[in-house]
Amino acid sequence: MFLLSSATRQSGRGETSLRYMLHRICLKMSSSASGKALRVLVDMDGVLADFEGGFLRKYRSRYPEEPFITLDDRRGFWVSTQYGRLRSDLCEKATSIWESKDFFIELDPLPGGVEAIKEIAKMDNTDVFICTSPIKHYKNCPYEKYAWVEKYLGHDFLERVILTRDKTLITGDILIDDKPDIIGVEPKPTWEHILFTACHNKHLSISSSQRRLLSWNDDWRSILTSKRQ
Ligand SMILES: [Mg+2]
Repeated sequence: MFLLSSATRQSGRGETSLRYMLHRICLKMSSSASGKALRVLVDMDGVLADFEGGFLRKYRSRYPEEPFITLDDRRGFWVSTQYGRLRSDLCEKATSIWESKDFFIELDPLPGGVEAIKEIAKMDNTDVFICTSPIKHYKNCPYEKYAWVEKYLGHDFLERVILTRDKTLITGDILIDDKPDIIGVEPKPTWEHILFTACHNKHLSISSSQRRLLSWNDDWRSILTSKRQ
């Protein structure tokens, strides 16, 4: 420790290369302590952050006279599609909610999610990443997703954020996600999709080979254990 602090005091460039070396060593340790580290990908909206609850609260406050869909009556992944079926102009009104400034940063954490992901991050031989798809209206969403992670999980967790519109391209052992169908250019993603139960998917029957995580109170630890070699 003394050597380290005296070495880093010597020069700015020395500090940078020493930090880089330590970073590489830490990365190597996390993936080779005893074989390949389990790589867990965790979705954000509907898994860590309460997208549906946040949407309904802001929609009702902005459009108090308009009809709305209770969380119990939500069906289908796309909120805008179901609102559009209720009345065609409501699709655009729904979309305006999540395109507004502060929508994503003000989402509440879903119960137990922040605690669980912090626990996974501390597990031996395990790498966890947040794998989330920003909306195409990019003015606020990507910034606010990073800000949310920093607010609830801390600055260091920003290293663990993956923003992608195509999760099939990302390699991992498990992807915990509330979207029932995760498709993209890669026909055979490396991860097993664990369907995280949400108001919009709880009525769906899934194939016998697919697994659900009912909430963060459900036994996610056993799912992780089952994937370790
Ligand atoms: Mg989601």
